[in-house]
Amino acid sequence: MQTVHSIPEMSRLVEAVRCRGKTLGFVPTMGALHEGHLSLVKASVAACDITAVSIFVNPTQFGPGEDLDRYPRDLKGDAGLLEKAGCDFLFTLEKEAMYPQGFQTWVEVEHLPNHLCGISRPSHFRGVATVVTKLFNIVRPHQAFFGWKDAQQALVIRQMTRDLNFPIEIRLIPTIRDSDGLALSSRNRYLTPAQRKAAQTIPKALFKARDFFENGRREAKLLLAELHELFEGLPETQVEYISLVSTSDLEAVDEISKDTMLALAVRVGTTRLIDNYLFAKDESCSE
Ligand code: AMP
Repeated sequence: MQTVHSIPEMSRLVEAVRCRGKTLGFVPTMGALHEGHLSLVKASVAACDITAVSIFVNPTQFGPGEDLDRYPRDLKGDAGLLEKAGCDFLFTLEKEAMYPQGFQTWVEVEHLPNHLCGISRPSHFRGVATVVTKLFNIVRPHQAFFGWKDAQQALVIRQMTRDLNFPIEIRLIPTIRDSDGLALSSRNRYLTPAQRKAAQTIPKALFKARDFFENGRREAKLLLAELHELFEGLPETQVEYISLVSTSDLEAVDEISKDTMLALAVRVGTTRLIDNYLFAKDESCSE
Protein backbone atom coordinates (compact mmCIF):
# COMPACT_ATOMS: atom_id res chain seq x y z
CA MET A 1 0.00 0.00 0.00
CA GLN A 2 1.21 3.45 -0.87
CA THR A 3 0.41 6.43 1.36
CA VAL A 4 -0.16 9.61 -0.61
CA HIS A 5 -0.01 13.08 0.95
CA SER A 6 -0.52 15.42 -2.00
CA ILE A 7 -3.18 16.12 -4.64
CA PRO A 8 -0.78 16.16 -7.65
CA GLU A 9 0.71 12.81 -6.58
CA MET A 10 -2.75 11.25 -6.17
CA SER A 11 -3.81 12.58 -9.59
CA ARG A 12 -0.69 11.11 -11.18
CA LEU A 13 -1.28 7.68 -9.63
CA VAL A 14 -4.95 7.69 -10.65
CA GLU A 15 -4.00 8.59 -14.22
CA ALA A 16 -1.60 5.64 -14.32
CA VAL A 17 -4.31 3.25 -13.02
CA ARG A 18 -6.77 4.47 -15.65
CA CYS A 19 -4.18 4.32 -18.46
CA ARG A 20 -3.57 0.68 -17.61
CA GLY A 21 -7.32 0.09 -18.07
CA LYS A 22 -7.83 -0.88 -14.41
CA THR A 23 -10.97 -0.11 -12.42
CA LEU A 24 -10.61 2.11 -9.36
CA GLY A 25 -12.76 1.83 -6.22
CA PHE A 26 -12.82 4.60 -3.62
CA VAL A 27 -13.81 4.72 0.06
CA PRO A 28 -13.85 8.18 1.69
CA THR A 29 -13.47 8.13 5.51
CA MET A 30 -12.50 10.31 8.44
CA GLY A 31 -10.25 7.60 9.91
CA ALA A 32 -10.32 5.92 13.36
CA LEU A 33 -11.23 2.90 11.31
CA HIS A 34 -13.31 -0.06 12.48
CA GLU A 35 -14.91 -3.11 10.87
CA GLY A 36 -17.68 -0.94 9.40
CA HIS A 37 -15.18 1.06 7.36
CA LEU A 38 -13.28 -2.11 6.51
CA SER A 39 -16.43 -3.73 5.10
CA LEU A 40 -16.55 -0.88 2.57
CA VAL A 41 -12.87 -1.39 1.75
CA LYS A 42 -13.41 -5.12 1.32
CA ALA A 43 -16.40 -4.49 -0.98
CA SER A 44 -14.20 -2.23 -3.09
CA VAL A 45 -11.32 -4.72 -3.18
CA ALA A 46 -13.80 -7.40 -4.31
CA ALA A 47 -15.36 -5.22 -7.02
CA CYS A 48 -12.43 -3.20 -8.40
CA ASP A 49 -8.83 -3.80 -9.49
CA ILE A 50 -7.41 -1.00 -7.35
CA THR A 51 -8.77 0.50 -4.12
CA ALA A 52 -8.07 3.97 -2.74
CA VAL A 53 -9.17 5.04 0.75
CA SER A 54 -9.06 8.64 1.93
CA ILE A 55 -8.65 9.69 5.54
CA PHE A 56 -9.56 13.31 6.08
CA VAL A 57 -11.29 14.78 9.13
CA ASN A 58 -13.26 17.34 7.18
CA PRO A 59 -13.60 20.55 9.21
CA THR A 60 -16.38 21.98 7.03
CA GLN A 61 -18.86 19.27 8.03
CA PHE A 62 -18.53 20.03 11.75
CA GLY A 63 -20.61 22.85 13.22
CA PRO A 64 -19.52 25.21 16.00
CA GLY A 65 -19.26 23.34 19.33
CA GLU A 66 -19.16 19.89 17.67
CA ASP A 67 -16.38 17.34 18.24
CA LEU A 68 -13.90 18.36 15.49
CA ASP A 69 -11.02 18.92 17.94
CA ARG A 70 -11.50 15.70 19.84
CA TYR A 71 -12.41 13.53 16.84
CA PRO A 72 -10.21 10.38 17.18
CA ARG A 73 -7.14 10.26 14.93
CA ASP A 74 -4.85 7.22 14.51
CA LEU A 75 -3.22 7.32 11.08
CA LYS A 76 -0.62 4.67 11.90
CA GLY A 77 -3.17 2.17 13.24
CA ASP A 78 -5.50 2.91 10.31
CA ALA A 79 -2.70 2.34 7.77
CA GLY A 80 -2.04 -1.12 9.25
CA LEU A 81 -5.74 -2.07 9.02
CA LEU A 82 -6.03 -0.80 5.44
CA GLU A 83 -2.94 -2.62 4.27
CA LYS A 84 -4.35 -5.87 5.69
CA ALA A 85 -7.73 -5.26 4.03
CA GLY A 86 -6.09 -4.99 0.60
CA CYS A 87 -6.13 -1.22 0.08
CA ASP A 88 -3.67 0.03 -2.57
CA PHE A 89 -3.61 3.79 -1.92
CA LEU A 90 -4.16 5.62 1.37
CA PHE A 91 -4.81 9.26 0.53
CA THR A 92 -4.55 11.77 3.35
CA LEU A 93 -4.26 15.55 3.28
CA GLU A 94 -3.72 18.44 5.69
CA LYS A 95 -6.75 20.71 5.89
CA GLU A 96 -4.75 23.59 4.35
CA ALA A 97 -4.18 21.49 1.22
CA MET A 98 -7.89 20.64 0.94
CA TYR A 99 -9.06 24.18 1.72
CA PRO A 100 -6.30 26.62 0.74
CA GLN A 101 -6.64 30.28 1.63
CA GLY A 102 -9.26 31.95 -0.52
CA PHE A 103 -11.40 28.80 -0.90
CA GLN A 104 -14.96 29.92 -1.67
CA THR A 105 -16.89 27.30 -3.65
CA TRP A 106 -19.52 25.04 -2.11
CA VAL A 107 -21.75 22.21 -3.28
CA GLU A 108 -25.28 22.31 -1.87
CA VAL A 109 -27.96 19.67 -2.39
CA GLU A 110 -31.32 21.44 -1.96
CA HIS A 111 -33.95 19.26 -0.29
CA LEU A 112 -32.54 16.07 1.26
CA PRO A 113 -30.41 17.96 3.83
CA ASN A 114 -33.49 19.76 5.22
CA HIS A 115 -34.56 16.70 7.23
CA LEU A 116 -33.26 14.46 10.05
CA CYS A 117 -29.63 15.40 10.93
CA GLY A 118 -29.72 18.52 8.76
CA ILE A 119 -32.12 20.19 11.21
CA SER A 120 -29.61 20.30 14.09
CA ARG A 121 -26.55 20.37 11.80
CA PRO A 122 -27.52 23.00 9.19
CA SER A 123 -24.15 23.23 7.38
CA HIS A 124 -23.15 19.57 7.74
CA PHE A 125 -24.26 18.22 4.35
CA ARG A 126 -22.86 21.22 2.49
CA GLY A 127 -19.47 20.31 4.01
CA VAL A 128 -19.94 16.63 3.12
CA ALA A 129 -21.08 17.31 -0.47
CA THR A 130 -18.23 19.76 -1.04
CA VAL A 131 -15.46 17.52 0.25
CA VAL A 132 -16.81 14.45 -1.55
CA THR A 133 -16.99 16.45 -4.80
CA LYS A 134 -13.37 17.48 -4.34
CA LEU A 135 -12.34 13.92 -3.54
CA PHE A 136 -14.27 12.57 -6.55
CA ASN A 137 -12.45 15.07 -8.81
CA ILE A 138 -9.05 14.18 -7.37
CA VAL A 139 -9.46 10.39 -7.18
CA ARG A 140 -11.75 9.96 -10.25
CA PRO A 141 -12.96 6.51 -9.16
CA HIS A 142 -15.20 4.19 -11.19
CA GLN A 143 -17.07 3.15 -8.03
CA ALA A 144 -17.38 4.84 -4.62
CA PHE A 145 -18.51 3.04 -1.46
CA PHE A 146 -20.64 4.53 1.35
CA GLY A 147 -22.32 3.02 4.41
CA TRP A 148 -26.09 2.88 4.98
CA LYS A 149 -25.22 3.61 8.62
CA ASP A 150 -25.17 7.26 7.49
CA ALA A 151 -28.26 6.87 5.32
CA GLN A 152 -29.00 10.56 4.82
CA GLN A 153 -25.39 11.16 3.79
CA ALA A 154 -25.59 8.23 1.35
CA LEU A 155 -28.77 9.65 -0.20
CA VAL A 156 -27.29 13.16 -0.46
CA ILE A 157 -24.18 11.79 -2.20
CA ARG A 158 -26.26 9.66 -4.55
CA GLN A 159 -28.41 12.66 -5.47
CA MET A 160 -25.36 14.89 -5.98
CA THR A 161 -23.68 12.27 -8.17
CA ARG A 162 -26.77 12.12 -10.39
CA ASP A 163 -27.35 15.86 -10.48
CA LEU A 164 -23.72 16.72 -11.31
CA ASN A 165 -23.24 13.80 -13.75
CA PHE A 166 -20.26 12.28 -11.97
CA PRO A 167 -19.41 9.14 -13.97
CA ILE A 168 -19.20 7.16 -10.73
CA GLU A 169 -21.23 4.19 -9.51
CA ILE A 170 -22.34 4.80 -5.91
CA ARG A 171 -22.36 1.56 -3.91
CA LEU A 172 -24.23 1.51 -0.59
CA ILE A 173 -23.10 -1.06 1.97
CA PRO A 174 -25.08 -2.46 4.96
CA THR A 175 -24.33 -1.43 8.55
CA ILE A 176 -21.88 -3.50 10.58
CA ARG A 177 -22.86 -3.90 14.25
CA ASP A 178 -21.14 -4.94 17.46
CA SER A 179 -22.29 -8.09 19.28
CA ASP A 180 -24.67 -5.97 21.45
CA GLY A 181 -26.34 -4.61 18.32
CA LEU A 182 -24.87 -1.11 18.48
CA ALA A 183 -23.74 0.07 15.05
CA LEU A 184 -19.96 0.43 14.88
CA SER A 185 -18.94 4.08 14.97
CA SER A 186 -15.69 5.95 15.58
CA ARG A 187 -17.61 7.87 18.24
CA ASN A 188 -18.52 4.76 20.31
CA ARG A 189 -15.14 5.02 22.01
CA TYR A 190 -16.35 8.16 23.82
CA LEU A 191 -19.00 6.14 25.72
CA THR A 192 -18.52 5.16 29.37
CA PRO A 193 -19.72 1.61 30.27
CA ALA A 194 -22.96 3.06 31.69
CA GLN A 195 -23.53 5.14 28.56
CA ARG A 196 -22.80 2.14 26.35
CA LYS A 197 -25.54 0.27 28.20
CA ALA A 198 -27.98 3.13 27.61
CA ALA A 199 -26.93 3.25 23.94
CA GLN A 200 -28.06 -0.36 23.50
CA THR A 201 -31.60 1.01 23.54
CA ILE A 202 -30.94 2.20 19.98
CA PRO A 203 -30.68 -1.30 18.43
CA LYS A 204 -33.54 -2.34 20.74
CA ALA A 205 -35.66 0.34 19.07
CA LEU A 206 -34.73 -0.97 15.62
CA PHE A 207 -35.76 -4.52 16.60
CA LYS A 208 -39.01 -3.20 18.01
CA ALA A 209 -39.72 -1.47 14.71
CA ARG A 210 -38.97 -4.66 12.79
CA ASP A 211 -41.36 -6.69 15.01
CA PHE A 212 -44.05 -4.00 14.75
CA PHE A 213 -43.90 -4.18 10.94
CA GLU A 214 -43.65 -7.98 10.81
CA ASN A 215 -46.80 -8.16 12.97
CA GLY A 216 -48.62 -6.35 10.19
CA ARG A 217 -48.87 -2.99 11.97
CA ARG A 218 -48.41 0.11 9.80
CA GLU A 219 -49.40 3.21 11.84
CA ALA A 220 -46.34 5.49 12.10
CA LYS A 221 -47.77 7.48 15.03
CA LEU A 222 -48.21 4.37 17.17
CA LEU A 223 -44.72 3.01 16.49
CA LEU A 224 -43.13 6.41 17.19
CA ALA A 225 -44.94 6.59 20.55
CA GLU A 226 -43.69 3.10 21.48
CA LEU A 227 -40.14 3.99 20.48
CA HIS A 228 -40.07 7.27 22.42
CA GLU A 229 -41.27 5.34 25.47
CA LEU A 230 -38.18 3.08 25.29
CA PHE A 231 -35.89 6.07 25.83
CA GLU A 232 -37.93 7.70 28.62
CA GLY A 233 -36.04 8.02 31.91
CA LEU A 234 -32.79 6.57 30.53
CA PRO A 235 -29.87 8.24 32.30
CA GLU A 236 -27.76 10.72 30.28
CA THR A 237 -29.84 10.03 27.18
CA GLN A 238 -31.63 12.56 25.05
CA VAL A 239 -33.49 11.77 21.86
CA GLU A 240 -32.81 14.31 19.12
CA TYR A 241 -35.21 12.71 16.67
CA ILE A 242 -36.97 9.45 15.92
CA SER A 243 -38.53 9.63 12.46
CA LEU A 244 -40.28 7.41 9.98
CA VAL A 245 -39.48 8.78 6.54
CA SER A 246 -39.69 7.86 2.88
CA THR A 247 -36.32 6.71 1.51
CA SER A 248 -36.94 8.67 -1.69
CA ASP A 249 -37.32 12.20 -0.25
CA LEU A 250 -36.90 11.78 3.54
CA GLU A 251 -40.39 13.27 4.13
CA ALA A 252 -42.21 11.90 7.19
CA VAL A 253 -44.79 9.18 6.46
CA ASP A 254 -48.08 8.37 8.22
CA GLU A 255 -48.14 4.77 7.10
CA ILE A 256 -45.11 2.47 7.16
CA SER A 257 -44.28 0.67 3.91
CA LYS A 258 -41.31 -1.11 2.39
CA ASP A 259 -40.01 2.28 1.21
CA THR A 260 -39.93 3.60 4.77
CA MET A 261 -36.84 4.10 6.89
CA LEU A 262 -36.78 4.49 10.65
CA ALA A 263 -34.01 6.98 11.45
CA LEU A 264 -32.90 8.14 14.85
CA ALA A 265 -30.35 10.40 16.48
CA VAL A 266 -29.75 10.09 20.21
CA ARG A 267 -27.33 11.93 22.43
CA VAL A 268 -25.81 9.73 25.13
CA GLY A 269 -23.72 11.89 27.43
CA THR A 270 -21.95 14.20 24.99
CA THR A 271 -21.89 11.62 22.20
CA ARG A 272 -24.34 11.90 19.36
CA LEU A 273 -25.25 8.52 17.83
CA ILE A 274 -27.30 7.86 14.69
CA ASP A 275 -28.77 4.66 13.33
CA ASN A 276 -31.55 3.52 11.01
CA TYR A 277 -33.66 0.58 9.92
CA LEU A 278 -34.98 -0.11 6.43
CA PHE A 279 -38.29 -1.95 6.46
CA ALA A 280 -37.53 -3.41 3.01
CA LYS A 281 -34.34 -4.92 4.44
CA ASP A 282 -32.58 -4.13 1.20
CA GLU A 283 -29.55 -2.03 1.93
CA SER A 284 -27.83 -2.85 -1.32
CA CYS A 285 -29.69 -0.31 -3.44
CA SER A 286 -26.65 0.54 -5.54
CA GLU A 287 -26.81 2.26 -8.86
P1 AMP B 1 -16.77 8.17 8.58
O1 AMP B 1 -15.33 7.85 8.78
O2 AMP B 1 -17.57 8.14 9.83
O3 AMP B 1 -16.98 9.41 7.74
O4 AMP B 1 -17.36 6.96 7.71
C1 AMP B 1 -16.81 6.62 6.46
C2 AMP B 1 -17.75 5.67 5.76
O5 AMP B 1 -17.91 4.49 6.55
C3 AMP B 1 -19.14 6.25 5.55
O6 AMP B 1 -19.61 5.91 4.26
C4 AMP B 1 -19.95 5.58 6.64
O7 AMP B 1 -21.32 5.47 6.34
C5 AMP B 1 -19.30 4.21 6.70
N1 AMP B 1 -19.56 3.56 8.00
C6 AMP B 1 -19.40 4.09 9.23
N2 AMP B 1 -19.81 3.21 10.18
C7 AMP B 1 -20.22 2.10 9.53
C8 AMP B 1 -20.76 0.84 9.95
N3 AMP B 1 -20.94 0.55 11.23
N4 AMP B 1 -21.08 -0.07 8.99
C9 AMP B 1 -20.89 0.22 7.67
N5 AMP B 1 -20.40 1.39 7.22
C10 AMP B 1 -20.06 2.32 8.12
